[in-house]
Amino acid sequence: MIEFQDVQKYYGDFHALKDINLKIEAGETVVLIGPSGSGKSTLIRTVNGLEPIQEGKLIVNGQDLANKKTDVNRIRKNVGMVFQHFNLYANKTVLENIMLAPRIVLKRPEKENKELAMQLLDQVGLQSQANKLPAQLSGGQQQRIAIARSLAMRPKCLLFDEPTSALDPEMIDDVLNVMKDIAQDSDMTMLVVTHEMGFAREVANRVIFMDDGQILEDDTSDKFFDGEPSNERARQFLGKII
Ligand code: ATP
Ligand code: MG
Repeated sequence: MIEFQDVQKYYGDFHALKDINLKIEAGETVVLIGPSGSGKSTLIRTVNGLEPIQEGKLIVNGQDLANKKTDVNRIRKNVGMVFQHFNLYANKTVLENIMLAPRIVLKRPEKENKELAMQLLDQVGLQSQANKLPAQLSGGQQQRIAIARSLAMRPKCLLFDEPTSALDPEMIDDVLNVMKDIAQDSDMTMLVVTHEMGFAREVANRVIFMDDGQILEDDTSDKFFDGEPSNERARQFLGKII
């Protein structure tokens, strides 16, 4: 469970997140949309402590990230993140990319670690690529490896920041289908920044619209797409992207 209570985030003097109140229940899939610079990446990055907040409470799996005593590493064990540019380790094989963090952070025994990694590679359709280096794979394949790598930590929650924005169009669906399977077949909590409105409509429970550091709309996806957002800027934005 993720809960923002009156959260304020500043970069120096710049007020990047304004009065954020947001509760995401375990198992929900929430899509976050909004114009460039509205604070989507900032918001998502606060959830695993990549960006500190200055005011308010941010409770992730029962621990408040605003509390100095909170161990960020413990939170990160349960919160995976998938980035636009994959961020795989370039000099390690696909299999090593997936096995590294569980070995070091969780001390998972080698045999079990490898079995799980191969099972996850199967899940994302890439078992045959286990011994390749990331550069030998397509962007869509690399992103699916990045997702498998996050899943290997068995997190409770997965954050995605524009996971398909850097991909050629023909690879986007492969990645979205993997994400859809995770959303539907597991009890993972997913917070996804994406412009893929087909995915949002089909897979998300909720859609959140941000502008200028604020949440202006927080609807079920049915209301967002079939009714219409009550906020004028959200309506305009939706009109432009679908
Ligand atoms: P995009 O769709 O372009 O990815 P975004 O909604 O993810 O945009 P953010 O990256 O969260 O937006 O940025 C929100 C605001 O905070 C922007 O005005 C940006 O310039 C500013 N910002 C982001 N990161 C920093 C930083 N490290 N230092 C100062 N300002 C920052
Ligand atoms: Mg961003």
